[in-house]
Amino acid sequence: TRNIMERTDKKGYEEAQKRLKMAEEDHKKILPELRKESRRNYLSKREAEKLEDLEAEIADEEYLFSTDALTERERKELEYKRNLRDLAKDYKKAGAKEKEERKNRYYMPEEKRSKVRRRYTLVEMGGGEQGRWEEERLKTASLIFGAKKEREKGLKAEREKYQLILEEDEMINFVSSAQEQAALSQAEVQKQSIQEVRRSLPVFPYREDLLLAIQQHQILVIEGETGSGKTTQIPQFLMESGYNDGGMKIGCTQPRRVAAMSVAARVAQEVGVKLGNEVGYSIRFEDCTSERTVLKYMTDGMLLREFLTEPDLASYSVVIIDEAHERTLHTDILFGLIKDIARFRPDLKVLVASATLDTERFSCFFDDAPVFRIPGRRFPVDIFYTKAPEADYLEACVVSVLQIHVTQPPGDCLVFLTGQEEIETCCELLQERCRRLGSKISELLVLPIYANLPSDMQAKIFSPTPPGSRKVVVATNIAETSLTIDGIIYVIDPGFCKQKSYNARTGMESLIVTPCSRASANQRAGRAGRVAAGKCFRLYTAWAFKHEMEESTVPEIQRTNLGNVVLLLKSLGINDLIHFDFMDPPPHETLVLALEQLYALGALNHLGELTKVTYCSEEVLTIAAMLSVNNSIFYRPKDKVVHADNARQNFVVPGGDHMVLLNVYTQWLESGYSTQWCYENFIQFRSMKRARDVREQLEGLMDRIEVEVCSSGGDIVPIRKAVTAGYFYHTARLSKGGYKTVKHQQTVYVHPNSSLFEEQPRWLIYHELVFTTKEFMRQVIEIDSSWLLEVAPHYYKNKE
Ligand code: ADP
Ligand code: MG
Repeated sequence: TRNIMERTDKKGYEEAQKRLKMAEEDHKKILPELRKESRRNYLSKREAEKLEDLEAEIADEEYLFSTDALTERERKELEYKRNLRDLAKDYKKAGAKEKEERKNRYYMPEEKRSKVRRRYTLVEMGGGEQGRWEEERLKTASLIFGAKKEREKGLKAEREKYQLILEEDEMINFVSSAQEQAALSQAEVQKQSIQEVRRSLPVFPYREDLLLAIQQHQILVIEGETGSGKTTQIPQFLMESGYNDGGMKIGCTQPRRVAAMSVAARVAQEVGVKLGNEVGYSIRFEDCTSERTVLKYMTDGMLLREFLTEPDLASYSVVIIDEAHERTLHTDILFGLIKDIARFRPDLKVLVASATLDTERFSCFFDDAPVFRIPGRRFPVDIFYTKAPEADYLEACVVSVLQIHVTQPPGDCLVFLTGQEEIETCCELLQERCRRLGSKISELLVLPIYANLPSDMQAKIFSPTPPGSRKVVVATNIAETSLTIDGIIYVIDPGFCKQKSYNARTGMESLIVTPCSRASANQRAGRAGRVAAGKCFRLYTAWAFKHEMEESTVPEIQRTNLGNVVLLLKSLGINDLIHFDFMDPPPHETLVLALEQLYALGALNHLGELTKVTYCSEEVLTIAAMLSVNNSIFYRPKDKVVHADNARQNFVVPGGDHMVLLNVYTQWLESGYSTQWCYENFIQFRSMKRARDVREQLEGLMDRIEVEVCSSGGDIVPIRKAVTAGYFYHTARLSKGGYKTVKHQQTVYVHPNSSLFEEQPRWLIYHELVFTTKEFMRQVIEIDSSWLLEVAPHYYKNKE
């Protein structure tokens, strides 16, 4: 305006005023339209506004001045503006074209597209029922359940083809409710550039809306189908719009280590920085961040720890609690703590991100925070069930994979198993079968993914499948919602998961392979429908799905020993645990039991305050560290079983498994922490290294609270007494029928891997109880019953 006013003295001035006024009016009218338009065409709001300004300016100047009245500089400026305008227009066109291509790349049935692709619904709780209902209907409509008919003609032909390769009795009979060919277009497979991928994610069109919603609300629940870009994109949106100003951090929690690492790596790549610089991750014993880090992915446990040093999380501008639906113990505790600090840190933004499960509960807990829904793309998934229950689900998985490989059109396959051991076995079996079949089948790439897999191996699952071959990813339920692998068309779901469960009555915690929940099963099936119509093969019957599975998974806080939680909260200065704001309070008796146990251990005094008393020594630190790496010390390759078992036998010393672990560690230390030594002795170096890290951390903690580290000087009695003091409630006694736990007379067995498997001493303390085929005690130590009275008189006084 100033420019124009200076230039026009007489009649031009009035004209210019009028023109500007009109432009302003137009501006107001056009702007909302333009915004819509720009979103549709992938011109950012700012860019669209800029384009509009340019057009107005150019028009003004062209209207007011003839070109020769302009100075050289002004002419150049005008020229520049025109160029800029043309560029912007081109960009706009290109956006529209790209959108068109995008539409073709992702096929979606017409009637669904019109509904799914509508604008987000910002649901203030209590309203928007209709929208929600529709969304629910839509989701269920794309998943068709029920087993009715035998497969028909097409399948018969398939079966014949497939019989050439597999024996009839090796086959699994699946029944399906609908038949549909999954067609994977070539464009799907073709590799896309990172920016293209970013733009193609469902969250992309909602960038501005989402940022606006975040600006307007302190706490926002974000719901979106797995793979819609919540974890990788939203933090980047925040970064791009100034949430890091003044060096403030954005934190994003993940329940799993692997997810935190893998997602951080991906985002660093997208942002174009080295992992650990601006974008980093932090998991226990591995801090891949630096001074420069402004976006930090971390496990939920790590954020909890940060409360110890920074109780108000002052260095964070945004905290994203991701994968909230997982309801891990740590996430649940974070909910309570964050809700609390959000009250006195109004500048802190809290985002609770979740797959499409249970988001209303989160909203409710956070004082009716609004829910931002990212409409998902989900293609129909055909569900197949087995006609009869499968006795051996591992074998059934192997057969199903091969069955898919030889009978089904291209598309990758995802298998859900419960843990490392199973996954390794399954992969070995698959590879062996493929070798046997040789050139009769096309190439099958078998890739495992589980928490302890080295990170270079983890990255492999994301690399695109070479043409002509098929990828099979064998995963724990990490692939259920935490990680999205593109290109999956087939899912095999045996219907099991490993779950921690805790019996408050017996005080017993165990890791059990149990049927997963229906919600889990549906999430798993959903993985098949992300890029095209898919198929999910459930290795259980439709009846079992309906009648034997729980509706949803019970939150971990309801099925865990709360000892650690109590200690953690107490160390944060939260003493009144009974009234802590839990989303789902743990059972009262569990909480009371945990307090009792901690008191019995001497960790809490009679006022319920933390004490400094610990039963520790040099050796116990090592044992604790070795126990924490959880059964992954000894390595037993299939082709060297005898060697491995001999090597293991050589470590056996009197006293029990704890002493064996101590022995392994001590010898390793004497070897100078040698890799070669591990290799020669069939010991897993990675696990040992981890144990060393844990040990160092524990030692550091002891140092900080000024507890001296001392050694027993080769005497094994004090060490075993110390273990007894910590685990006296894990005592088992040998009687006629075998071992019985002292407290509840439950029948238990020594694990065959134990060094005491054949000795069967009269009194034992076990580290953990694991229910697999039987109730096994893992890591046992022999004790003298008199020690029980000595170290835990308050507990054993009235027994015996
Ligand atoms: P959400 O959190 O909503 O489930 P994500 O942000 O995790 O979605 O995933 C978005 C996309 O990023 C997916 O297409 C996924 O395949 C891709 N992606 C995520 N991590 C990686 C990775 N490590 N390598 C390659 N692609 C990845
Ligand atoms: Mg995610």
